[in-house]
Amino acid sequence: MDINSKKVTFEDDILENDRKQYKYNNTILLAFHIAFIIPYMILSPSHMLIVNFFSIFYYTFAYFLLDKNKKYLIIYSYVTLTEMLIHICFCVMVFGWSAGYQFWIISILITFLFPYITPDRSKKDRYRMTNSLVFSSVAIFIALYFIDLYVDLPITDYPSTLISHIMFVINVLITFTAIAKFTLIYTSQMEYKYVELHNQADFDQLTGLGNRYYMNDILQDEELKSTIEEGYSVAIVDIDHFKQINDTFGHDNGDIVLREIAEILSVEASDKIKVGRWGGEEFLIIATHEVKYDDFLKCLENLREQVSKHQFNLNNQVIYKTVSIGASHYNKSLSVQDVIKNADNNLYSAKESGRNNLVA
Ligand code: GH3
Ligand code: MG
Ligand code: MG
Repeated sequence: MDINSKKVTFEDDILENDRKQYKYNNTILLAFHIAFIIPYMILSPSHMLIVNFFSIFYYTFAYFLLDKNKKYLIIYSYVTLTEMLIHICFCVMVFGWSAGYQFWIISILITFLFPYITPDRSKKDRYRMTNSLVFSSVAIFIALYFIDLYVDLPITDYPSTLISHIMFVINVLITFTAIAKFTLIYTSQMEYKYVELHNQADFDQLTGLGNRYYMNDILQDEELKSTIEEGYSVAIVDIDHFKQINDTFGHDNGDIVLREIAEILSVEASDKIKVGRWGGEEFLIIATHEVKYDDFLKCLENLREQVSKHQFNLNNQVIYKTVSIGASHYNKSLSVQDVIKNADNNLYSAKESGRNNLVA
């Protein structure tokens, strides 16, 4: 149940980011169309102004729509695509092919293929969408070229050669910038999602410490770096009579104790000492080959003492908790599993000898 609710939150988060990005893009598009009023008034008083009026109306409406519900994102992306294509078609038909408005079709095609523009699509849907987008873009692009060549439209209102040249340069510039900008947004979004997933895979959600998978990676690394003279050390820290906390104060309070003990153990965490959650109410501490075993044991003794002095406030009741620690040191004839097993055996001895103890 917990995992499912986390999943929903994560996807919700992505949608929420998408919504913000959409709103931002929508505002830019609205600003563009408002700015278009002036050149359209100068160049083509009737046709483009009417088209532009509908565009402004649409983006203003969309601005408020995007505020309301995340579910409109997909509809929004398709309607926006259609609006853009209609607008471009009119521009090419009114100003002519040489003004370069058709290049916008290329940048729109590329940007709409980015997953976040049309989120929540299955692989099959994306494939279908890509095909229809490519097909319609190419068809529109070619159709516009031939319409410009052979059809004498009543709305055509070519600007002077100089204006047409200026338009061409501006349109090419905007198209290339748009492609670059969207590619950049896309890569940074992917990077963000990658980091997010990476963190989820490596870190324990409750305590924020590295999880077993992450700690195993460190152990493999340390084994490679160890030599006959120096090697890593490990310690398994197990909370004493932890079950009692759950039984007496409830699971939520158990989680509080776990988090606070994780915090205490983290005090010693550094480049050379790594603290992780090994499972349940057990933590693993790894000291790299740069740390002498004696120093590591002093540090563990200190942690054991810190935990035993810490006051946990559960349901307005102050309680104390202790931990038992089993430590062990690398030796060339031992595998990682052996080193961990030795620490586990020492932990068992620490429990046997009355708990709140460090056995090395
Ligand atoms: P000992 O001193 O021998 O270690 O006794 P103990 O009670 O600590 O050990 P035992 O293995 O019997 O119980 C561990 C308990 O830890 C059982 C399990 O419900 C609880 N536990 C494991 N993970 C979590 C967690 O994430 N949150 C909470 N609240 N409890 C957990
Ligand atoms: Mg245990
Ligand atoms: Mg325990």
